[in-house]
Amino acid sequence: MAHQKETHEFKTEVKQFMHLIINSLYSNKEIFLRELISNASDAIDRLNFKAQTDSALLGEDTDFKIKIIPDKENKTLTISDNGIGMTYEEVVENIGTIARSGTAAFMQAMENAGNKDILAPELIGQFGVGFYSAFIVADNITLVTRAAGENTATRWESSGDGSYTIEPAEKERRGTDVILTLRPVEKDEQDFTEEWTIRQIVKKHSDFVTYPIVMDVERDEFETDKDGKPVLDKDGKPVKKGKKVEEETLNSMKAIWAKDKKDVTDEEYKDFYTHISHDWNPPLSRLHLKLEGITEYSALLYIPAQAPFDLFMPERKHGVQLYCRRVFIMDDCKELIPEYLRFVKGVVDAPDLNLNISREILQQDALVRNIKKNLVKKILDHLEQMPAEEYEKFYNEFGAVIKEGIHSDWGNRDKLAKLARYKTTKSDGKWVSLEVYVKNMKPDQEDIYYITGDSLGAILNSPHLETLKEKDFEVLLMTDPVDEFVIQSLPEFEKKKFKSAEKGDLGLDEVDESRKKSFSSLFDAIKNHLEDKVKDVKPSSHLKDSVSCLSGETYDMSAYMEKLLKASGQPLPESKRILEINIAHPVMEKIQKIFETNKEDASLEDYSALLYDLAVVGEGGKIENPARFNKLIGQLMAKAL
Ligand code: ADP
Repeated sequence: MAHQKETHEFKTEVKQFMHLIINSLYSNKEIFLRELISNASDAIDRLNFKAQTDSALLGEDTDFKIKIIPDKENKTLTISDNGIGMTYEEVVENIGTIARSGTAAFMQAMENAGNKDILAPELIGQFGVGFYSAFIVADNITLVTRAAGENTATRWESSGDGSYTIEPAEKERRGTDVILTLRPVEKDEQDFTEEWTIRQIVKKHSDFVTYPIVMDVERDEFETDKDGKPVLDKDGKPVKKGKKVEEETLNSMKAIWAKDKKDVTDEEYKDFYTHISHDWNPPLSRLHLKLEGITEYSALLYIPAQAPFDLFMPERKHGVQLYCRRVFIMDDCKELIPEYLRFVKGVVDAPDLNLNISREILQQDALVRNIKKNLVKKILDHLEQMPAEEYEKFYNEFGAVIKEGIHSDWGNRDKLAKLARYKTTKSDGKWVSLEVYVKNMKPDQEDIYYITGDSLGAILNSPHLETLKEKDFEVLLMTDPVDEFVIQSLPEFEKKKFKSAEKGDLGLDEVDESRKKSFSSLFDAIKNHLEDKVKDVKPSSHLKDSVSCLSGETYDMSAYMEKLLKASGQPLPESKRILEINIAHPVMEKIQKIFETNKEDASLEDYSALLYDLAVVGEGGKIENPARFNKLIGQLMAKAL
């Protein structure tokens, strides 16, 4: 299809995005080079991968490389690759719109950051900001590209001002040249045509790129004698002959995951982490594995020191890249690492992998499945063996994610349960493992008690805990939404059952059956008054100081679960709860007296409503009619004082 020169408008989101990055990358301009090199390296990866099955694609041009060409005179910088290139249609598709999740996440983070125009430099490092970041250093970008296997090329040009042109062009080799016309260098700013500057940036951000990043450098040439030895002048200095230009490789390309542990320095490990994660903080911990035998692989995995901003966003990426004999296969490899270990970053190299493998069939591949199983085991063992202090740091960041595994990975449920930590009614804000909890159980305590809720403060003071506190039984405080699922998937730990502190009968105290009976007709009357609110009124086994509380039956949803589901917009059947009343509380005797004197006494309806409202207030809920509550309490105080 023949194309004419055409002018297109950028999609609005591109304009928005460009505005954002130009503002927030201002103090961090050099990142543009990392982005263009990474695009070039991706393009070579893709061609390399395709060429495994179609070697004709490469033709004579088999030396993959990325070349950086600074031109001081014309103030341009060109990044040239012999990767897969793009067709006309692909240029329109890829370089006129923003379709990528990384970019979308960037925009989202900008929005969340509050300050709409600037993002903190530490955050920027986490994003692949892509091609457009070059506009921060260039006032014009020209891209000339020829797709592998095609004869015609395409030229795209824009000054980043809202539109771009696109037209057919000539290009000798396949691949892509990105030519930046650099903005004038201001005082104290980096000059991106300077050899030293380019070297520094490549070393810093792109050292591990698997292809040579080359640049022509000019060097002095010296006179030599017939034996090849330098000729010296009368001061003993070598005699200059002239200048020569040599192509030099700027990056080390070291695939350190393939090396032996003893041959890698801490510094190299750390640099590699920065390179693959774009996280500028050092990682919390690392795991370098080499497995031989039937399931052969090497892996270099890291646990970040801080949770990324998108840990709980559905569109987040996984951090593990898959290689086969140092040939990049894919990043974001969900098939190798389960969701609940999505915070792990790194590289897995599986030499026996079938190179033709596609994402779709990766999951069914027996080798991949074995690697995954093995990796999970290694990672969990690693976490288990972490020193306590380090593990605590880890747990503060990723504890909620690890617990997802208890619900989703049945094979490792027990291992994961051991990794779980909870704050408790006795731990004074510190994490406690289930093992320690069980060890500290009272001799007369049979079950593991827990309570769920959305804040420590609210559940720590819950009236449901009064009896348990008096007995000096420890209660796990569960405040992560995922805990509800954990409990459903984990009925017991070390043969001890989990028991909700707020649902069902605790069955702990000797019950005085006759006293209970004496209240039964009053409770029937209260139930009548509260018919549309509660499904039953019962004497409580939870309460010591409070008069009333609300609870569910053992298999009912907890109040927190109900709140969570409501918040997520799920339709819920209207579920009524049970009003539990403390029959040992003096106020109940008084109400009982009124009831015995006159079963129709009008105040009974008010007291019923109050008992209910007090229970709601006690669990931090909202009462339906605060004005009436206020009035009733006022009247009672007036009477009592
Ligand atoms: P990203 O690289 O993160 O996807 P970019 O905005 O940098 O986002 O690039 C958008 C798309 O343009 C890439 O996904 C790729 O398809 C294409 N592209 C960019 N640079 C090149 C290149 N040097 N060679 C081939 N394709 C490229």
